[in-house]
Amino acid sequence: MINGLQPIPVKEISKLTSPKIWLIEGYLKNFATFTPISGIIKADSKGNLLQLKGKANTAVNLSCDKCLTSFNYKLEFETDEMIWIGKEDLNLEDLKLEVSSSQLASIVDFIDPNENFDPAHWLFEQLNLRMPLLNICGDHCPGSPQINSPEKISHGQNDSGEQQQIDSRWIALKNFH
Ligand SMILES: [Zn+2]
Repeated sequence: MINGLQPIPVKEISKLTSPKIWLIEGYLKNFATFTPISGIIKADSKGNLLQLKGKANTAVNLSCDKCLTSFNYKLEFETDEMIWIGKEDLNLEDLKLEVSSSQLASIVDFIDPNENFDPAHWLFEQLNLRMPLLNICGDHCPGSPQINSPEKISHGQNDSGEQQQIDSRWIALKNFH
């Protein structure tokens, strides 16, 4: 839990004369990181828009998809986005009347005016979005772990039942032809 990162009613942010700022230093309970998350979130209400600026960095421990080695990955973001304060069934034509086209392009989401803005959840989403799709430990990755050569396997399993099983499968295949 990060101290002070509590949800705040959207209406309360709208009433503030200066932006609401959260300093981030710590761990999220639902997002495991190797080092504490360090950063800042700034929420500023601009009429029907909520501007969210934030940046943070941390490190996560991942397992390489190729060689299975665990490695640390630096995770960071810096973003500036707009959230529409209004209902979900928002009409795009109405929205165009209220905001400039450049603002319209940066609107990524909406939030109900009667809801809370949850900075911890927002931080969680930002970090999650930037997780790599493929976990590769680096350019030096040795690739897939080496599988024992067929010779080694047959030596070890010469008298095993498994070997016989394979043989019977071969027989079945021969019969099939
Ligand atoms: Zn690797």
